[in-house]
Amino acid sequence: MAISSGLLSCALQELSKSFFRVDLSFSFFGDVALKAETRITVNEGKYLKLIYRKQHEELSRVRTTVVAKSVRVRPATVTEMLQNLAEKGLLRYTRYRGVRLTEKGFAEARKLLRKHRLLETLFVRFLDYDVQKACDEASKLDHYASEDLVNTICRAYGHPEACPCNKTIFSHEGCKENSQGEARWKVI
Ligand SMILES: [Zn+2]
Ligand SMILES: [Zn+2]
Repeated sequence: MAISSGLLSCALQELSKSFFRVDLSFSFFGDVALKAETRITVNEGKYLKLIYRKQHEELSRVRTTVVAKSVRVRPATVTEMLQNLAEKGLLRYTRYRGVRLTEKGFAEARKLLRKHRLLETLFVRFLDYDVQKACDEASKLDHYASEDLVNTICRAYGHPEACPCNKTIFSHEGCKENSQGEARWKVI
């Protein structure tokens, strides 16, 4: 009896250890996925926005040379950045076929462009700021703006569908849902 209960507690210990191990590995992978999802640098964001605009709004094929011209850096530097973005799972890059955003890259680009276009809307409509200057300023600030801030701008202007330069402002689930009774001030 003493032996078997000893064996039992030993087996239980082993079992709990293995559960613990399983648990650990899950949280480890969870953390990695979480970090990979949120860590995008300002420079990476610039490339994502540019590639999105070329690929989905101008419907042109994205090639290294085209990107290099737009960001005014050497093609080799662009290639390096594209490979880096591919490693992060944000785009697929083949040397001869060019670049395509993955689902994750597509979502990140739209998130940034939504911020960009709502900031632009605020600068132009509230401050009567010059459209081109508003676009330049928004490019510098969009990366840092929180979703809460841009959703507040979005609600203040009644969920605009286009920015001052007539580009689409992507809708955001949750922005319209939260708008009931929340329009404390409204600017038209
Ligand atoms: Zn909205
Ligand atoms: Zn715009």
